[in-house]
Amino acid sequence: MLKEPIFLKPVLQERIWGGTKLREEYGYEIPSESTGEAWVISAHPNGPSTVTEGEFAGETLGQLWENHGELFNKKTDGEYPLLVKILDAADDLSVQVHPDDQYAKEVEGAPYGKTECWYVLGAEEGANLILGHNAADKNEFEKMVEEGEWEQLFRYVKVQKGDFIYVPSGTIHAIGRGITILEVQQSSDITYRVYDYDRTDKDGNTRELHLDRAKDVTNIPHKDANLDFGTSEKDGMTIRQLVKEKYFTVEKWEVSADTEYAISADFLQVDVIEGQGSIVVAGEEYELTKGVHFILPNGVGKIKLGGDMELIVSHP
Ligand code: ZN
Repeated sequence: MLKEPIFLKPVLQERIWGGTKLREEYGYEIPSESTGEAWVISAHPNGPSTVTEGEFAGETLGQLWENHGELFNKKTDGEYPLLVKILDAADDLSVQVHPDDQYAKEVEGAPYGKTECWYVLGAEEGANLILGHNAADKNEFEKMVEEGEWEQLFRYVKVQKGDFIYVPSGTIHAIGRGITILEVQQSSDITYRVYDYDRTDKDGNTRELHLDRAKDVTNIPHKDANLDFGTSEKDGMTIRQLVKEKYFTVEKWEVSADTEYAISADFLQVDVIEGQGSIVVAGEEYELTKGVHFILPNGVGKIKLGGDMELIVSHP
């Protein structure tokens, strides 16, 4: 049984709406000045993370899932279920919606739909995002889309650092300019674009929209999720439960001094989003710093944490 953290190297993705914060804030080597996404814990074929050290150095997370299921206490033949990203929105992202599992399977032949959630790592003063819509029924939704009444249709939400947003499949959404988020989502890359601000690329082309499929999958009327989970405190650590639902559990751990934690989940995905500290696994100490991402495999048991840092911890 492997008793050590599996550290992963992020995959950086260029996006037209991206910027340079992934280098400035997290020290990642970015491919261009418009880098939008770092896929930090990913087994998705469109951007698989690679193990950086230890017994499995050089292997992808997808290969570990395939060949070493015991690391995850894997119980099914399915794909690795989750994907964690950091997004830097230097410009507005297109307004979009994702299908649920059933629609993804039947219409796209893909294993998973996409429910996602966002922890806001940083937001400029007055930054907005879109979450849900104001249409009362399907007729009104279609009419507002046809007539391009976007401002009236979309629900705008102001956000600041530390906010948490849950985006179940079927929820219209868009991350706005000036927002950096950590996203935990189902491992899926299916997006239906509803509106792209009529933007054109350098050749004068607009990006493709997918209005028919978007209408199929959008929840109408929109209903806000009820996120009322607790916070637990113990010596050296505060744990805030952000969401616990069908696909994932996500928590924020604030470590302020030496502390211990006994893992009960099959495995944990860990993202260091602020500060510095250390983790002790099976008597071995590892340094942790902002921008580091790793998996604690099955059977690690009790860990020790220390330092002054914030972690986003998630598991299926
Ligand atoms: Zn999305």
